[in-house]
Amino acid sequence: MLKYFGADVYLDSIYGLTPELLEKLGIRALIMDLDNTVAAYNTILPDDKVMEWFKTLRQAGIPIAVVSNNSEARVSRFCLPLGIPHFWEGGKPSPRIIRKAMEEIGAKPEYTAMVGDKLLTDVWGARRCGITAILVKPVGGRGIINYIRHKHKLKEVEKK
Ligand SMILES: [Mg+2]
Repeated sequence: MLKYFGADVYLDSIYGLTPELLEKLGIRALIMDLDNTVAAYNTILPDDKVMEWFKTLRQAGIPIAVVSNNSEARVSRFCLPLGIPHFWEGGKPSPRIIRKAMEEIGAKPEYTAMVGDKLLTDVWGARRCGITAILVKPVGGRGIINYIRHKHKLKEVEKK
């Protein structure tokens, strides 16, 4: 059970995901969670650092889509300035929308990674799609509380 939930790669933040690291990992496409992964849940628009990160990866030829469980209003507002495909009410860990996003950007499971801050949605969703799972430390306070909650839940799951 623990192995099922564990991520393949752990990073402090998305900024550790460079074209060089992705090449080493054999990752050529990314599906990104939004809240507390790319930015704190209450950050409405991408800042320069976020814009630059997406630009760098796009220039390296890495197709990216965002799959969030949040609302259309939140996800579209944040993602439109980035000009990337984005999917809201993703229902993660359901694989359905993640697969739809992969299809949209032409990504094959063998070289795609899902990047997120939550084990029970992002990592589990990646597992169910047969793609690499990259876990980042949550951005912002609320995410950290969620992270601890999930760690607690994970312990409960392990006991079963
Ligand atoms: Mg998140």
